[in-house]
Amino acid sequence: MGLRFILGKPGTGKTSLCLEEIYQKLDGNAPLYYLVPEQFSLQSEKLLLSRRAAATQVQVLSFNRLAYRLFSNFGGMPGKFADDLGKQMLLRKVLFEVADNLTYYKSAANKHGFVESLADTITEMNHYRITAPELLDRAANSSPAFAAKLTDIAKISTAYRKLVDGRYLLTDDMLEILCQKLDSLENDPIPLLDGAYFWVDGFSGFTPQERQVLKCILKRANNVSVTLTLAADPRLSPPKITIEKLKNLANNARIKIEPETQLEKNLRHANAPGLAAFVNNFTMLPNKAAPNHSQNTNNIEIISAFDRYAAVNTAANYILSRNPSIRFRDIAILCGDRTHYEKILQTTFDRLNIPLFVDTEIDILSHPLTELIRAALDIIIKNWNYESVFRFLKTRLTSLPLETIDQLENYVLEHGISSYRWRYPFNNPNLDNTRQALLSILSTFTNSKKTATVQAHARHIFDMLYALNISATLQSWIDTCTAAGDHATARMHKQIWPKICEIFDKLVEMLGDEEVSIKTFAATLDAGFAQVGLGRVPPTTDQIVLGDIGRSRYPEIKVMIVLGANEDILPPTPSQTGLFTDYERQTLQNTGVELAAENIHRLTESYYSLYTAMSQPSDKLILIYSSTTPGGKSLRPSPVINRIREIFPDLTIQGAQKLSEYGMFPSPTPTSALLSEASTACLYGNTIITAASRLESFARCPFAYYMTYILKAQPRKRFQVLPTDLGTLFHSVMAEFSKRVWENGEKHNNLTHTDIAQYVDEIVNVVTANSNIYHDNARNRHMLDKVRRTSAASIWALCEHIKMGDFVPTLTEHEIRTSIPLENGRNLTVTGYVDRVDTLKQSAEEYIKIIDYKSGSTKFNIEEARHGIQLQLMIYMNAITAMRNAKPGGMFYFPIGDPILETDILLDKETREKGLLSQFKMSGIALSEETTLNAMDKSLAPGQSSTVIPVAINKDGKFKKSIQPTALDIESFQTLGQEVTGKIKELGNRMTKGDISAAPYTKGPKGPCNFCKFGAVCGIEK
Ligand code: SF4
Repeated sequence: MGLRFILGKPGTGKTSLCLEEIYQKLDGNAPLYYLVPEQFSLQSEKLLLSRRAAATQVQVLSFNRLAYRLFSNFGGMPGKFADDLGKQMLLRKVLFEVADNLTYYKSAANKHGFVESLADTITEMNHYRITAPELLDRAANSSPAFAAKLTDIAKISTAYRKLVDGRYLLTDDMLEILCQKLDSLENDPIPLLDGAYFWVDGFSGFTPQERQVLKCILKRANNVSVTLTLAADPRLSPPKITIEKLKNLANNARIKIEPETQLEKNLRHANAPGLAAFVNNFTMLPNKAAPNHSQNTNNIEIISAFDRYAAVNTAANYILSRNPSIRFRDIAILCGDRTHYEKILQTTFDRLNIPLFVDTEIDILSHPLTELIRAALDIIIKNWNYESVFRFLKTRLTSLPLETIDQLENYVLEHGISSYRWRYPFNNPNLDNTRQALLSILSTFTNSKKTATVQAHARHIFDMLYALNISATLQSWIDTCTAAGDHATARMHKQIWPKICEIFDKLVEMLGDEEVSIKTFAATLDAGFAQVGLGRVPPTTDQIVLGDIGRSRYPEIKVMIVLGANEDILPPTPSQTGLFTDYERQTLQNTGVELAAENIHRLTESYYSLYTAMSQPSDKLILIYSSTTPGGKSLRPSPVINRIREIFPDLTIQGAQKLSEYGMFPSPTPTSALLSEASTACLYGNTIITAASRLESFARCPFAYYMTYILKAQPRKRFQVLPTDLGTLFHSVMAEFSKRVWENGEKHNNLTHTDIAQYVDEIVNVVTANSNIYHDNARNRHMLDKVRRTSAASIWALCEHIKMGDFVPTLTEHEIRTSIPLENGRNLTVTGYVDRVDTLKQSAEEYIKIIDYKSGSTKFNIEEARHGIQLQLMIYMNAITAMRNAKPGGMFYFPIGDPILETDILLDKETREKGLLSQFKMSGIALSEETTLNAMDKSLAPGQSSTVIPVAINKDGKFKKSIQPTALDIESFQTLGQEVTGKIKELGNRMTKGDISAAPYTKGPKGPCNFCKFGAVCGIEK
């Protein structure tokens, strides 16, 4: 009978020593146990058997499995076994019972996630052997809020114990009850334990319950050997604290403590001096005195990648170009930020045929069957809202054809169907059949009471599942996946039905008679779903493992790649579990109540786990960090990298040159693509006819143009008013206004506010008369009012502009059509509508002013005109001046709006109107001739800035300089016209060559990708 510690830093052979000792004892009769953490048990069993197949007499167990084994031997479990799922259900039941008596948690008790946090706290209380009376005792001397919290937890805990004790054996209680049982059998023989040998391996610490079990074992076993991994940094102290606690426990029980076995030689890193130096010198905090290991750096690499995608590509490139002696299974990947990396890793590695095994369970919530059940409940709870209905239908478990579901979705969005509207027939007969089919599928819910027993709610769900013949559909999915060789997905579908049945069985068993609302039922069910996962099947034995820090064990790997080695990510920030905050933990700790470590200690544990994980590869450690977020913000490397560089000052951070050495796969960047000549000929023939705005779209990104205008990919029509609808409405109102003014023989510059408002009212009524959408709900009616106000304000400003000059409105909504010859005898015809053309007669010359109404904040930019992004104004000007044999006078964007003057003082009418007018200043280019400028704004004079056009004149009579030119002389104006024509030719020629490149025109951070809906198709990362 004795306790022995086997101690050593990572790689010193502690596990190997355990295995060797186990093999030596195989010939004897004593029971042999290899006790490891639950998540390592399978790996450890494989490891044990891989070295000696005959080692089957050794039992590889976790603490819970040991308890289960002993209970089986004692004959009968003390109560019905309830796992974590059962525990959540029981807690939910307890909450129903005590909810009215709670104060602190009265409103939180039904909130999403509360049961999970409560379950963590109850588990923690059990592990640390804290009772409800203890909490009540501490409540007496605490602040009112903390006292209320402790009292509520004590009430829940008492009710829970009352429900559970003697009836259920919970995982939480198993070790406690085991110890009681072993104590009660103190004088009886227990062959499974008496004279046994235990090797306890892979732990860094033990809960009080586990320590208690060890004490019971120590009293009976021949020997208990406990391995602990020591760290180079004494601050990484979990093993030291554990040694102390176990020694106290042994001393108190008068158990002999045998001499420690100290393993000094680093066997794992015998051929990797860099990693050996890392193991011997890594510290948690800065260490200026860290030894210099400048020669030993080729076992460790640090790489800076642009972003997560580049980081994953770098890892993939390393794997693909690795030394052939390294198998996939010799490599492990660890992620600082697994949620963000896992998907990228899976898709990238799939694409490159790199086998990757993700060492976690699949979330049951991601399976269509779970989604079907949750969506069905949500349809009732959320009164047939769009999201719930289509979540339900898109599970592919309703037997309704997907094509019909898509059509139904378009119809529902376009007609704003939700809530009671599902009860009325649709005016599309085919879709109405689908509506009826859906109502029939959900009839068990719609016809039942919203509050019923848990059993009744569960029965409604199963009635629906049987009516849908779910098991047959699942079987067909399994068959299809199996035939396609996708065994992983087949296994997932195979597991789901039994899992769902298990959850419902537990639910009915624990809470069947409780009367609950459908909302509470759904929340309870969700708590159950959250507890269950689906196991994954390793696709092959030769695969890379993606593991978790502290949770995964990698036997004998050669290379470890750590992704996401960034600040605040590596080591992972410890998250708070349960209901107690760190401060409350500390408060309880001060009164003698031991709970799990608070944040600062958890951070130490996190560093310790990372240190032991990074010590596992025998040959190479590669740390890759991202230097930017997907949004372009800079990221800093993890402090772990700084600590490593203190040990190895010559270790440089590698960037692009390293990536190219690995043969970097390009991350998504602008890609060129061409349609075939035959397709281009089919699409365009000899003459491309396109609108000026479309040509601009092509210049912004040929791929977006191709998607929008060639493939005609459109977002779904929705029953809602979009900004583009409002823009179209403004244009219609303003065009119609000028027509009516002319028809009535009136002049723009004679109209009053009242005249304008009357015109606008009439026009808006006519234009929207046949459109239900603007009159459907209060929001849309409010938008229509806004259109009236904005149109009236904008038209008033336009009339004021006209009053302030001599240009005369001449054309409105005027169609232009201009032809430009291209290469190879082809032509490009550009079409468009000019919002307004004003003219000025001066001697024998006519000058043209072009105005384009803009409902956004677009400003004219001459550079963008040259690059083809803002072609419209110049195309129109070229066309109209050519048509009328006239000269350019100016071309402008007029901002449609309803500005507000922000001022604290009361303004007179004239000042107010002047202030408002200044906010309608147009942007564009004017001809820099005095006569035409004055004809656009008669008030323009030296030392003045126009309120109409973007021109200001200095006191010396010269134009005020601005970043963008706003006035050009006639030659420059004409040169700009020629440049734009040249650009149009270039764009046209690219079109005829079939250019559909995803090559966006970018200027600063405001590239077209930011607003583009095709990002998911073109593959460009935004
Ligand atoms: S996201 Fe960017 S590159 Fe992709 S289609 Fe849109 S504009 Fe073009």
